[in-house]
Amino acid sequence: MTAAAAGTKVPGGRAVQVARRLEDEILARGRPVGAVLGSETELRERFGVSRSVLREAIRLLEHHQLARMRRGPGGGLCVAAPDLGPVSRALVVYLEFVGASAEDLMRARLLLEPLSVRLAAAATTGQDRDRLRQALAVERERWAEWDLRMDDDLHVILARSSGNAVLGLLIEVLLRLTARHARAAQGIPGEDAGAEKEGAHQRNLRIAEAVFTGDADAAETAMTEHLAETARWLREHQVRRPAGERLPGPASLGGTGRKLAELLADRIHDDIAAGGWMVGSVFGSETELLGCYGVSRSVLREAVRLLEHHSVARMRRGAGGGLVVQAPDPAASIHTTALYLDRQGIGPADWREVRDAVEGGCVQVVAVDAVDAGETMGRLRTAVGHGEAFHRELAEATGNPVLAVFLRIVTELGARQAACGESEGDRLVHQRILQAVGCGDEGLARNLMRRHLRAIADR
Ligand SMILES: [Zn+2]
Repeated sequence: MTAAAAGTKVPGGRAVQVARRLEDEILARGRPVGAVLGSETELRERFGVSRSVLREAIRLLEHHQLARMRRGPGGGLCVAAPDLGPVSRALVVYLEFVGASAEDLMRARLLLEPLSVRLAAAATTGQDRDRLRQALAVERERWAEWDLRMDDDLHVILARSSGNAVLGLLIEVLLRLTARHARAAQGIPGEDAGAEKEGAHQRNLRIAEAVFTGDADAAETAMTEHLAETARWLREHQVRRPAGERLPGPASLGGTGRKLAELLADRIHDDIAAGGWMVGSVFGSETELLGCYGVSRSVLREAVRLLEHHSVARMRRGAGGGLVVQAPDPAASIHTTALYLDRQGIGPADWREVRDAVEGGCVQVVAVDAVDAGETMGRLRTAVGHGEAFHRELAEATGNPVLAVFLRIVTELGARQAACGESEGDRLVHQRILQAVGCGDEGLARNLMRRHLRAIADR
């Protein structure tokens, strides 16, 4: 990048910096919910920014539900209570945009969900059990409409029952993304949908039963079978929307204000992704988008700010301008997610369990494909002496964007605790892992990686 380019004002750049500093301050103070960080005037003076920059920073904090503006006497920017929603949505937006396929998603689910039920079987509380029973009862009560397309609630509860917040969040992201694929799925002429449904319900019962009785092995097996069936179902029922198609507007969007803007951002992003719009192309001018989605200018602009924050699209002013499709950048989502998880009080064990599952999966995938991947192997060989970069390359080499992003989250999260280094010891271990991968020996590669991660965690 040239000095001139580096000095160019990035839209929202200053606001993002202010938001980050406020985020760090909130977390450093232990997230005192309700505490006032300052009035608008005080904050403007402190950061030396204009009203519009400060307001944009506040909108970002509100979007992440870290803080919100309280009006009136004694008001100001207050620390807000945590909510999972926006954090996982940021990841969902990114993964949807880079085109994570149903197969990519199911592979990640197969790595994480059996682990989550294994942990749940050991840790489930009475309250979790009540929630699980309720979710199973709902499947029966709403039998006419229930099917694999709605098979989420039970999995969310199971993931949360694992007691591992990293696992809980990542699985929730996977479920939201799979649900989009499932909802778009089509029936197959002549198929017995009733039998499919009964099968899915029975498998859910088996998983829950194993968790209730604390049988970790049975829970893991039942979940693995269930996911294999779901993967098959998605494969057989998937449909592709023709490229270039945009859903007809105006959209019948529910909600008001900021909520409506979020829905609109989701919808625009869906249309960009589903329509196969190329990076750099103009999705539509502001006037066209107002007409197409039938919303007010202020709602559209708010939605555009969210899209800009996630690097999904950017509004270009002037002649030939409009909403320009961008190359998505996961950095903001990864940072936000790691921050969110960090303040959930993640222990070294939680972190290691997830990293082990994700990276174990990565080496397996790469080992299986290693035979015809000379270029990939070359890149990996170059990264052998570069600590965490080797692990990132390995995740990238899977070609699965879900695994690549999840590994980056776990690495950023663990960076403060333990990280792989550039020592001779680490380089040698990487070399051995790579040798096993190159021979297609996934079992050995998996074992070496597991031992390596344990050694890192023990530092
Ligand atoms: Zn390493």
